[in-house]
Amino acid sequence: MGFRVYRPYVFPDAIDPAIGKELQRLGVAFEPVLHEATDAIVCLLATKVDAALLDRVPKLRVVSNVAVGYDNIDVSACTTRGVVVTNTPDVLTEATADLAWALLLAAARRIPEGDHFARSGKWKRWDWTTFRGADVHGRTLGILGAGRIGQATGHRGVGFSMEVLYTSRERKLLFEHTTMARRVDFKTLLRESDFLSIHVPLTKETHHLIGAKELALMKPGAILINTSRGPVVDEAALAKALKSGKLASAGLDVFEKEPKIHPALLKLGNVVLLPHIGSATDSTRRRMVETALRNCIAALKGEMPPNAVNAHALNKA
Ligand code: NAP
Repeated sequence: MGFRVYRPYVFPDAIDPAIGKELQRLGVAFEPVLHEATDAIVCLLATKVDAALLDRVPKLRVVSNVAVGYDNIDVSACTTRGVVVTNTPDVLTEATADLAWALLLAAARRIPEGDHFARSGKWKRWDWTTFRGADVHGRTLGILGAGRIGQATGHRGVGFSMEVLYTSRERKLLFEHTTMARRVDFKTLLRESDFLSIHVPLTKETHHLIGAKELALMKPGAILINTSRGPVVDEAALAKALKSGKLASAGLDVFEKEPKIHPALLKLGNVVLLPHIGSATDSTRRRMVETALRNCIAALKGEMPPNAVNAHALNKA
């Protein structure tokens, strides 16, 4: 007996041979199509797992997302059907925090604009006023959502002598202890941050959490960084705030309608745009695949996977 695993994307990474052996032992066959006999799904964010899809796969045991965010999956519809949902936390935390900082520095110091200018042949002489940006050191870094990645981003701020503020539903004592971070309410975070870095998951509550009203509360000349999910920010409102000069700049790795980018953002020079590459390093991507496969294997063996996001709900059911 074996298992049929729907895997719409073929990952090129060489994985731990022990995982390969276990998949072989279990008789796992990866397939590019979903059908009635599918036992498991190993997928990326582009796969929308909703009730309609679940109705087509009555034998399904697990949806193993190769990402920490799982807003592409209807978790309650999975739970109702006894399907476990898993993600890949921790292994991508540092890489994503590094990218948030790459965006922060690039937006503050106008790195893409400078690079473009240096290549363009327009650079004729050194000029005192060319590409002046914003100071980073000693300023205030606001973390919206101080979970794994938010805290890792905050930790890096200490090296830049920044004051770190954060907003989270729960207090993070260890984070406060190691960074001197101060927990503040959402409005204070908006009003006092020179840099606002967003790290909340996308949920009904966080959809457009940053809109025109929130942007209006931010400091003039503040810089916004988003490496969480695009729909947390109202892109049209952000484009207006950038165009008017209310915000000095922004750095975005994620967008509301990926891979489409709001046309108003594309026209602006003061926004750094990246194609959702927060976790895109070789070692991180390899560890994400390994984590997802370990989760899938555990579920196929009838065990609760280490990164089950609905374990609690399933245990209660
Ligand atoms: P996490 O550890 O679960 O952290 C999320 C934090 O957000 C938690 O601390 C949570 O609060 C907080 N939060 C949730 N709702 C909130 C709200 N309404 N207001 C304030 N705080 C709120 O997750 P993570 O591993 O850091 O990942 C965060 C997100 O980053 C993921 O969900 C994913 O969407 C995104 N991500 C993007 C990339 C990329 O390639 N750009 C890569 C990895 C992850 P409490 O802890 O207080 O409950």
